Amino acid sequence: MSDTIQILPDHIANQIAAGEVIQRPASAVKELMENAVDAGATEVKLIVNDAGKSLIQVIDNGKGMSPSDAQNAFGRHATSKIRSIEDLFQIRSMGFRGEALASIAAVAQVTLKTKTAKDELGTMVEIENSKVISTSAVAHAQGTNIAMKNLFFNVPARRNFLKSNSAELKHIIEEFTRVALAFPEVFFSLTSNGQDVYHWEGGSFKQRAIQVLGNSYQTKLVAVGEKTDYLTVSGFVGKPETARKTRSDQYFFVNRRFIKSAYLHHAVANAFDGLIPKDSYPSYILYIDVDPAQVDINVHPTKQEIKFEDDKIIYAFVQAAVKHALAQFSIAPSLDFSLDANIQQLDAIQKPFTDQQVQDTSKKSLYTGFTQKNQAHFIPSSENTGNPDWKNFFTDIPKAEENFIVKPSSMGLYKEDDGLAVIEDATLLQLHHTYIIAPTQSGCVIIHQQLAHERVLYEKYQKATSHPHATQKSLFPVVLELNPSDAILLSEMLEDLALIGYEIEAFGSNSFIIQGIPADVISGNEKNAIELLLEQFKHFSNEVKYSKREKLIRCLARQMAIKAGQALSQKEMHAIIEQLSQCDIPNITASGAPTYIELKESYLDGLFSK
Ligand code: ADP
Ligand code: MG
Repeated sequence: MSDTIQILPDHIANQIAAGEVIQRPASAVKELMENAVDAGATEVKLIVNDAGKSLIQVIDNGKGMSPSDAQNAFGRHATSKIRSIEDLFQIRSMGFRGEALASIAAVAQVTLKTKTAKDELGTMVEIENSKVISTSAVAHAQGTNIAMKNLFFNVPARRNFLKSNSAELKHIIEEFTRVALAFPEVFFSLTSNGQDVYHWEGGSFKQRAIQVLGNSYQTKLVAVGEKTDYLTVSGFVGKPETARKTRSDQYFFVNRRFIKSAYLHHAVANAFDGLIPKDSYPSYILYIDVDPAQVDINVHPTKQEIKFEDDKIIYAFVQAAVKHALAQFSIAPSLDFSLDANIQQLDAIQKPFTDQQVQDTSKKSLYTGFTQKNQAHFIPSSENTGNPDWKNFFTDIPKAEENFIVKPSSMGLYKEDDGLAVIEDATLLQLHHTYIIAPTQSGCVIIHQQLAHERVLYEKYQKATSHPHATQKSLFPVVLELNPSDAILLSEMLEDLALIGYEIEAFGSNSFIIQGIPADVISGNEKNAIELLLEQFKHFSNEVKYSKREKLIRCLARQMAIKAGQALSQKEMHAIIEQLSQCDIPNITASGAPTYIELKESYLDGLFSK
């Protein structure tokens, strides 16, 4: 057979790559405006015709490009903004991937005119299908004027996917607004089909906010401002009366980059808890500034999603900053705005971020793909396996005495009448970290610790309908993002999980937020626990004879039970035995495995008879 693999010609490769960066006119607008800002422009004019479908033009007074740069700028991975991989972690510019102009040149007809301060003449480059058609010297003012015509002229399939002009223009205005909010000191204007839409003089953050939100906001904004060595949160939230039923005026910027974050949105929404109706959204424009080494912006082609080294700290700060602002303006009671004590004690908050730490962080990140927590700024959460919190476990136990019959010999028994009559206070033996061997009056029992505990939890969860289980609120709500089918599965379980003590809310299409977990589960591993639960649940899903709730309870009991192989103290072993003895059906698990067996003295005697 002949070989079939071919290397794609550049213009096709570029067209394919363009699909990631340029999905619609608004994506090109974002890239071009960011390039203008990166070039240090103080004036940026955007002109569009037919919602950008026939023309998108950005004119700036930035530093411009030299003749050779003007041609090279369209190459793939052509960028002046980073030189080495280390630079990725110190990025202050909007662009750095060197993909935008290459992508644009692959899917539109582009004319670039540009001039630097030191060149006398400017350069004009015309490019189409990723190929330079002409270059010439032209008279031009300092700065760059780039026009892209007939977007997707050579990719009809994409062109057909575009929405109506009004829908596409809405996207453009959205991107325009985001860049303008990020750089209030810069003049921005937007002209659409020859009509002036916006004309925003450069000014303060507040002035830009008012330009964007409208004059009526003059008296409706509350300033937010918290600063530590680790991060700064500033900007504005709308007073509660500005809350809307739609998600519209909500902006987060991290180091001046607009980002989407359901997680941080939740932090703000939480700060407004009780001040606005449950089904409405607060308006806000918040700027978060952190050391660039603390964020990874390279996780998404359009850079609208980023990864924080430690998003819990950011969450806590944003929430505290907004609460504080609302309290200062007497909008919310000034009771509860301070940062949680646990957070305040962190080194990250208490100690200045030293140069050494910055260096260590970025170095380390290079090798760890920037996803691992670094030592200096890491909230230590107890590593755990989802096992019950023994501290709570013990205090949960109902007063034991009621179930005891105290014998004259002063040897108490656990529930005399049923099979599990272990002698109270007896020294127990744990065999292979799996079996508990306990003496009874008439012999001994061998208890399987995991199966026994599974029975205990099963009954506890079963009874949770009548007395909902205690919940411990998570200090840091955890976000769970699932694939669509798991999301459906989990949303069907939420009610039952709530009875057991899981407080989980749906938000966004496939995201959930875990607000609280059963009081007897160690916090810190919620995400894992729920994911595991979904997995187990799926294995069960063919068992039609059980209700959803029954399956869920079985899965949970199995998952939460302490495992075989775990060393237990005397106290812990006694607790299991005591709880097991109080079960309705102590001797088997829900799926029918024995939880313990008893060896009667007479049986043992028999074994030893001649
Ligand atoms: P990136 O912004 O990721 O570097 P782009 O493809 O957007 O990649 O741009 C490539 C390069 O072209 C930039 O790094 C910059 O040097 C130059 N460039 C693009 N637009 C402008 C502009 N408006 N003014 C000056 N230089 C520009
Ligand atoms: Mg760019």
